[in-house]
Amino acid sequence: MNSRLQVQHLLDFIDASPSPWHVVQTLEAQLTRCNFIRLDETETWALKPSGRYYVVRDGSSIIAFVLGQKALPETGFKIIGAHTDSPGLRVRPNAANYLDGFLRVGVEIYGGPILATFTDRDLSLAGRVSVKTEQGQLESRLIRFDKVLLRLPNLAIHMNRSVNDEGLKLHKQNELPLLLSSISEQQLPQAYFMDLLHDQLALDQDRILAWDLVVYDTQKGVFWGAEQEFYANSQLDNLASCHAAIMALLDEHTLFTDATRVCALFDHEEVGSESHKGADGSFLPDILARIALATGTAQQDYARTLAKSFQISVDMAHAYQPNFPLAYEPDHKVIVNQGPVIKVNAGQRYSTESHSEALFANWCEEAGVPYQKYSHRCDLPCGSTIGPITSAKLGIRSVDVGNPMWAMHSIRESAGVLDHAFMIRALTHFFMA
Ligand code: ZN
Repeated sequence: MNSRLQVQHLLDFIDASPSPWHVVQTLEAQLTRCNFIRLDETETWALKPSGRYYVVRDGSSIIAFVLGQKALPETGFKIIGAHTDSPGLRVRPNAANYLDGFLRVGVEIYGGPILATFTDRDLSLAGRVSVKTEQGQLESRLIRFDKVLLRLPNLAIHMNRSVNDEGLKLHKQNELPLLLSSISEQQLPQAYFMDLLHDQLALDQDRILAWDLVVYDTQKGVFWGAEQEFYANSQLDNLASCHAAIMALLDEHTLFTDATRVCALFDHEEVGSESHKGADGSFLPDILARIALATGTAQQDYARTLAKSFQISVDMAHAYQPNFPLAYEPDHKVIVNQGPVIKVNAGQRYSTESHSEALFANWCEEAGVPYQKYSHRCDLPCGSTIGPITSAKLGIRSVDVGNPMWAMHSIRESAGVLDHAFMIRALTHFFMA
């Protein structure tokens, strides 16, 4: 596949995946098409040599793996980690309220979105709901509204004269509820909202008891630029990395190699990873231990396996934007379409150290992929990734890398076409090396 087709595949993946639960559903469909078998954590596992498997925890974190040709202690695990969630707005439990003739949907802030970018967008809802069936069973269902359902209209400049000088500031409690409808005072807001959800799922007697609802942007991904060398969509942080990881795992050249390859894609990174399905939870340690157990690896050999393992934590990086030169460390401007970025931070906000940095650089060189190095300004707090968390938890060596992108945590992010293909090539080489 050429780089344009790879990015089109990524854009289609994102458009099909408006919430972390949809991300996992989309990936699951792709893995199943490639003969991966779903494993259930409540069951006993029997794994076959060179077998392809995946495990889902709570619908929005997924670990897919392919068993290697050699015993685990000989090669260690080769792990690529990324996250399935993106910052944004989440619908509250008592969602709907009535104010001055309007029905509004109350939201909480999930992670650190650039809130101003949510104004004047064609928004809608997606996620999962828990349904109590007529027979009294509880079932989890995905829900997605395709039509534009919601909006956060800006204030006219005539009422906010300073907006271009001071920036758009939204009061987080009072000014974020999204407009859904103009209804009469007699209609009960929450009942109206529930009817909307029930109609969408064509539920008759079944009742919705709870939900995880994400506000998403209905605008599809696009290529842009004179040569169409850039692309834009929501959730590039970090679905571009999830996509690159899975493309590497599914590359036919990596399907029969020595080491056991693992893609671990976690929910809850944007809110600190501390949950049963987050990177700071037991998901990855549990699955690695169970792979070892199911392949007859003794306790000491499992410790040897971890000592030999390596992780690439893939998350997006901050590309240089020439209009804002002072925002960047002057000697570490990373440029869109010039290759994957190795992220280094003395304070270990990234898991990279010189040896893992050199390993990744060397894999890039062997694969013919250009690479860049990023270091954050000292006078700005540095972001972090799942890298240091899983690396510390498992005691395995790790490097933090990611593709350069603009407008991280905007509802509309953008990046370079060439970089996505470069990243897939580098990750594929890691799995083969
Ligand atoms: Zn991220």
